[in-house]
Amino acid sequence: MLFNFQLSTSKEGLIDITAEVTEAIMESGVNEGICIVYCPHTTAAITINENADPDVKTDFISGLDRTFPDLATFLHAEGNSDAHLKSSVVGASELIIVSGGKPLLGTWQGVYFCEFDGPRNRKFYVKVMGDWK
Ligand code: ZN
Repeated sequence: MLFNFQLSTSKEGLIDITAEVTEAIMESGVNEGICIVYCPHTTAAITINENADPDVKTDFISGLDRTFPDLATFLHAEGNSDAHLKSSVVGASELIIVSGGKPLLGTWQGVYFCEFDGPRNRKFYVKVMGDWK
């Protein structure tokens, strides 16, 4: 089953979408399988990272900003090449094991939608496949 979600973002940041992913898996009725969380945008991404200390989200963005600065030598006329770089490096999707009708995540893991060039209206998809109960 395919589920789609929409969200409004701020300029840059990580949005916790673990609840939406869990909701999609539960609604699908899949007990054992896999799910793909996919972002159809070129200046955003999906990642899995720590959900305990909110400073991790801030450091994630500031680390990427330092690694991929907005260089004056970039040619892309839209002026957001740094966001395109971050999007590809972090990646458009995550593959998550579904076990016991839930995403198999570590204690400190959450699923995040990453915005690198907001504010924008965004969407992401959750595709759930596997065996029903
Ligand atoms: Zn662009």
